Amino acid sequence: MDKEVRVRFAPSPTGALHIGGGHTALFNWLWARHTGGKFILRIEDTDRERSTKEYEETIMSGMTWLGLDWDEGPDIGGPVGPYRQSERLDIYRKYAEQLLEEGKAYMDGPAIIYKVPEGITLAFDDIVYGHIEVKSETLKDIVMIKSDGMPAYNYAVVIDDYTMGINYVIRGEDHISNTPKQLLLYKALGWEPPQFAHLPMILGKDKKKLSKRHGATSVYEYRDMGYMPDSVFNFLAILGWSIGDDREVFSREEATKCFDLKRVNRRAAVFDMDKLNYINQEHLKELDPMVRLDMVEPFWKEAQLPVEEHTREFLAGALELMGGRGRTAKELAEYSDYFVSFEPVKARYNGSDVPEEDKDMLRSFFGELLKIDPWEAEPMEELARNWAAEKDVKMKKLAMPLRWALTGVKVSPGIFEVAEYLGRDEVRQRLAHYGLVEA
Ligand code: GLU
Repeated sequence: MDKEVRVRFAPSPTGALHIGGGHTALFNWLWARHTGGKFILRIEDTDRERSTKEYEETIMSGMTWLGLDWDEGPDIGGPVGPYRQSERLDIYRKYAEQLLEEGKAYMDGPAIIYKVPEGITLAFDDIVYGHIEVKSETLKDIVMIKSDGMPAYNYAVVIDDYTMGINYVIRGEDHISNTPKQLLLYKALGWEPPQFAHLPMILGKDKKKLSKRHGATSVYEYRDMGYMPDSVFNFLAILGWSIGDDREVFSREEATKCFDLKRVNRRAAVFDMDKLNYINQEHLKELDPMVRLDMVEPFWKEAQLPVEEHTREFLAGALELMGGRGRTAKELAEYSDYFVSFEPVKARYNGSDVPEEDKDMLRSFFGELLKIDPWEAEPMEELARNWAAEKDVKMKKLAMPLRWALTGVKVSPGIFEVAEYLGRDEVRQRLAHYGLVEA
């Protein structure tokens, strides 16, 4: 009864792994991992003109980036290979000839075509969409082998799913209309069909089918924008599925444990960037500091910041200080650039907003501040508080110029913590650059 679950992701290598493909792959992977079954990667490369080896490789590396590992596939082989359709031509021919001999198919030139019989009702119970049935009269004859010798999709998919032992077919809802044709071929061959679970379509916020107009559509573009694999995984998982409670942020392990095809929603899912940003920020907060640094470092380097002048501990600690700011690794890198170098601070802040009449007061305050021992945030803050009370100025009047001089931005973590972390000498140099220390 409890047969091992065998599912497959069957991309055509005619483009990079896009969001829809990643979504389909993910749901197959979750079902396999949840049930302890097998996840198979099959490359549907029968479109000889549009399929390339490069796309096959980017799809695989996109899956690997998302953490979707497969148990059988063209690169690692397996018991029911080959796993590339272009290498299975003899298998397709064999069954096509069988149907020809049985009088169920006919030839049209070099093409082999299945003759759709009349009076048959093709019905299936989709795990997501429920009962669906179609009368055979509504179907046209089905091309099995095209005139170029390649199998056509609806035929090849049946031969492959059956001979590879696939017992759950999980794919986009755009394939619902193909399913009756495939059922007909299962019937003709005397094979038991798998169970079907079609996944809801993914729409942009304007309720139109997700496309380039809505922004990045390939999984890799999200990596390059500083999103983490765990976040994209989490985000794709909630497109059409929920973990059961109200939780929207969860780990790969939690998703695997709770996944159930029965809870896939048939309503089209909306691709919401704000949601992805939120999820990514939550995952970023949870990261081990050194792993977070690994995520952020490339973006500092891209901005030509001298990462190598610091220890990894210093840089990781700086990111800790950022206290969850930044929705993506890229944003976090931008928000924290002043820890890596003073250059970006100088580039965005020239100090001209400090009123001349405040400068003497600031210089004597900073003079005291730079003498603080030990060099820690707490005594700095205490000094500022006392000074402000004594001189009857707002604390802000002291803290803001310090913040601008050290960071070049209006919003930062506690500025005395930043000062402590940068170190006394660095703080002195930055203040001096803006003429805020006594000569
Ligand atoms: N190669 C097909 C596609 O990418 C596979 C469809 C299926 O899963 O049956 O749409």
